[in-house]
Amino acid sequence: MNSPFTVLIVDDEKHNRNLLTELLKDDYELIVAKNGGQALLRAHEHQPDLILLDVLMPDMDGYAVIRALKHDDGTRDIPVIFVTALDSVGDEEKGLDLGAVDYISKPFHPPIVRVRVRNHLQSVQQRRLLEQLALLDSLTGIPNRRRFNQVFEQEWRRCLRTGAAMSLIVVDVDNFKAFNDSFGHAAGDEVLRRIASSLQKSLRRPADLVCRYGGEEFVILLPGIDKEGAQALAEAARFEIEAQHVGSETSGAPTAVTVSMGGVTRVPHQTTPDLTLFSDADASLYRAKHLGRNRVVWDSAAPGASPFPRQFAS
Ligand code: GH3
Ligand code: MG
Ligand code: MG
Repeated sequence: MNSPFTVLIVDDEKHNRNLLTELLKDDYELIVAKNGGQALLRAHEHQPDLILLDVLMPDMDGYAVIRALKHDDGTRDIPVIFVTALDSVGDEEKGLDLGAVDYISKPFHPPIVRVRVRNHLQSVQQRRLLEQLALLDSLTGIPNRRRFNQVFEQEWRRCLRTGAAMSLIVVDVDNFKAFNDSFGHAAGDEVLRRIASSLQKSLRRPADLVCRYGGEEFVILLPGIDKEGAQALAEAARFEIEAQHVGSETSGAPTAVTVSMGGVTRVPHQTTPDLTLFSDADASLYRAKHLGRNRVVWDSAAPGASPFPRQFAS
């Protein structure tokens, strides 16, 4: 079965497992567990999209299983439907209270089980879509600041473990206010989309990330890339945007839109992500603007190298 969804069926009685399997096998990938311990292992290993959980089982009952699932970061978000012969209101309340999304009484009516499973999986799909959309910038379709901050923290910790360097580049469109004023906001939006796409194409490794940080500003994160590598990538991306004559297609103007970039490279030493990377990259960007725009400036905030002296905890 080629379904995008996997359902884990947990029941100690073979008859029930077979009934549910027959009922759902044409629509979903199925995994089966015959006791609580197995259920926890399979939930971890296969990350099913939904769990149908029997309550009355020897050793570890369904209540204990859902408690363990909800206690674990790796399985907490998997929705659980209780399928049980217990049908007092108190049992149902207890199940829902423990975090189950639904409660189906045995003996069940097959069409009802099918519809409920389908409805819950639709909610799963909608939730995932919203989660994804919430991390993308709606104008350019590239990751937004929220996504960037998540990845920045993860990658910071990874570089800390491996001792690798991390580079960060702030990219800002040059004289963009003037462009908007001359050619209109819609043409400006098109420029932002083209620059986003150009920056995304400049990335080389799976861990590299570019986001629209806000307005006409983008940030590139290059985990594990040293200063030379990052500077080369930045310079190539800057050149590419200039050479593509971004903006001239939409505006009719012969001159291209350019970008300025400020970069930093650091080797993480502290556990908490160092946000001075952003302010230091910004200082470099400011310097790039000051020097005439359409250029890349690196680590202008380094001690001794800058008109913007900063304090460093070494
Ligand atoms: P500089 O080279 O110093 O960066 O000059 P600038 O004009 O680019 O900088 P400034 O901060 O003065 O103006 C930024 C402009 O970016 C103003 C704002 O209207 C425009 N902008 C920000 N977000 C968007 C957007 O989503 N779409 C469009 N079309 N313009 C935007
Ligand atoms: Mg049972
Ligand atoms: Mg600008």
